[in-house]
Amino acid sequence: MIDPFGREITYLRISVTDRCDFRCVYCMAEDMTFLPKADILTLEELDRLAGAFIRLGTRKIRLTGGEPLVRREVMTLFRSLGARLGNGLDELTVTTNGSQLARFAEALRAAGVRRVNVSLDTLSAEKFAAITRWGRLDRTLDGIFAAKAAGLAVKINAVALKGVNEDEFDTMLAWCGEHGFDLCLIETMPMGEIDADRTEQYLPLSLVRSRLRHRWTLEETSYRTGGPARYYTVAKTGRRIGFITPMTHNFCESCNRVRLTCTGTLYMCLGQDDQADLRAVLRRGATDAELEGAIRAAIARKPRGHDFVIDRRHDRPSVARHMSLTGG
Ligand code: SAM
Ligand code: SF4
Repeated sequence: MIDPFGREITYLRISVTDRCDFRCVYCMAEDMTFLPKADILTLEELDRLAGAFIRLGTRKIRLTGGEPLVRREVMTLFRSLGARLGNGLDELTVTTNGSQLARFAEALRAAGVRRVNVSLDTLSAEKFAAITRWGRLDRTLDGIFAAKAAGLAVKINAVALKGVNEDEFDTMLAWCGEHGFDLCLIETMPMGEIDADRTEQYLPLSLVRSRLRHRWTLEETSYRTGGPARYYTVAKTGRRIGFITPMTHNFCESCNRVRLTCTGTLYMCLGQDDQADLRAVLRRGATDAELEGAIRAAIARKPRGHDFVIDRRHDRPSVARHMSLTGG
């Protein structure tokens, strides 16, 4: 699948549920309303869609959410997708808040998962509770170490929040180095109505990087995961640190991905509203060829890039839907 700007689309992110056992302040309002069950694709429907994408050239799939590991029977989907590894699919990964990872780490590895991204914004139990509202640091840490013990490579994702965790990045970088994890810092993106003020949360990573350089030697690398992160090697630990800077740096040029929600809506860009309703195609009994045609038609509309802005006067999100719908 080649989009109108010549980019090869090989990476599919699937948000398997919009539900979550956390209520992170930058992601959700505390009283979120979730989608009715009937709107959500079954695991079989998700698998069928994934199969169509793989036939069209998708080589990497990441399951995300909401919290993917709270979806009932989600391991069935991991196993059926895992069975496609080596048969068109090269990699199956997951992004999780880690709360259920201690339970699932071994099964994920057995299904063919080799790398997991775990979101962890702080190493302070109090701050963790404040950021996630409903989460517990010890459970996420247990999950992270269970993943490591199961032989999964762990990357820690941390959203940089002004005045909240900005004093912790040195400690987190050292902690990741000690345990053999890569670290990826993310700028907050203006998506979905939340209770907090986004302009207050926003911390430019250019500033974080120059502060880190006081203590660490960060060596430029050409390492890419096919994603928007810029990676450096931390000389002292040998681990990598990545920076995802949608607000300060346009990362769209090399975009290779599209996002499927749990309702079968395909978003061609995280920061745009255009979408394709694949559930309607699926549920009117489309053949495989028709399904593939609908996917191709959507890819042909993939936009050049996002236009995220923080509307400072009204503090309105650029994109109305929440990150938990598309999974980041
Ligand atoms: N629940 C899982 C988790 O937290 O890893 C997967 C879904 S979550 C939506 C995926 C990633 O998006 C997390 O790393 C989270 O921190 C990040 N995220 C959520 N809302 C965001 C926002 N408004 N700006 C930037 N990153 C955000
Ligand atoms: Fe849940 Fe992940 Fe959103 Fe936090 S960032 S509320 S863990 S979906």
